[in-house]
Amino acid sequence: MAVNTENISLANDTLARRRQRNSATLIHRQKEVFDLVPQIEEMGYEITSLGAKYTMATLAKNADKAAEIKAEMAMLKQKQQDMLVENGFAADYLEPIYTCRECEDKGFVNGRICTCLRQEIIKQRQNSLTALSPAPKTTFDDFSLEYYSDKTDEYGDNPREIMGNILNYCKKYAEKFSRSRKSVLMLGSSGLGKTHLSCAIADECLKKGFVVMYASSQSLFEQIEQNKHNAHHILNDIINCDLFILDDLGTEYLTFYGQSILYNIINTRMINNSPCIYTSNIIHEKEFLRKYGEKITSRLMGSCDTLVFAGKDIRPQL
Ligand SMILES: [Zn+2]
Repeated sequence: MAVNTENISLANDTLARRRQRNSATLIHRQKEVFDLVPQIEEMGYEITSLGAKYTMATLAKNADKAAEIKAEMAMLKQKQQDMLVENGFAADYLEPIYTCRECEDKGFVNGRICTCLRQEIIKQRQNSLTALSPAPKTTFDDFSLEYYSDKTDEYGDNPREIMGNILNYCKKYAEKFSRSRKSVLMLGSSGLGKTHLSCAIADECLKKGFVVMYASSQSLFEQIEQNKHNAHHILNDIINCDLFILDDLGTEYLTFYGQSILYNIINTRMINNSPCIYTSNIIHEKEFLRKYGEKITSRLMGSCDTLVFAGKDIRPQL
């Protein structure tokens, strides 16, 4: 997983806060116990002093002495724990507290990044893209087919039936989602539920622990134009996430630079077999060609399952 350094340092900050909080809790516990049973504190001093003696014996290579001290320490420790239990505390009440036992909140185990730190980095990445363009929180459950007409139109299409099929496709897509799932192109006029269904897929994938990035096309390209020096960070995250959703393609203002970025995203994710969901109000291929040129259009159309949404804008009914 490629990560940018900013997200790693934010994730490390979280772990540092965790360590501080846990050690503060431990200090609080010690005070609570020692005030009530001073003997336990005295035992603690004894154990610490034995620890120092143990180190000296080890350094002096006096194995017998070291073993003797070790046994004494274990005995005292046991006595201390018994006394804790007698006074109504858990036996491990004064042990160091770790949120992650795996790495003891250090973030690394044997030089490898621990799951807890990885999850934090993922969270930071999602936060950073959410800040770029907030993804609407939608689910399949709040998607209703009733807003789509059940009457067959003059072309012989029944919007509710078409949308029912699309809904099933999207549910299955989310259910069987993997890092090498095919990309999807959702086409249709405004207000037919493209954002809703793409974000419902995102919701399911996030629950499964995939890294999902959402951006509305307009705000993504605005941000990229405004932060050209930082664009590689954004691009890096987009290229490496598990699912990338680019919403409302066609609403953005594309400079030559923006167009090369868009090509880069589509092409790299296609070569890596990484799934994307693109939505657009542009329905006709000709219009796509005019706006994006042949290179982008052919990659987009060639790498995606295309879903054409049907019906009339359902938003006024919501
Ligand atoms: Zn950990």
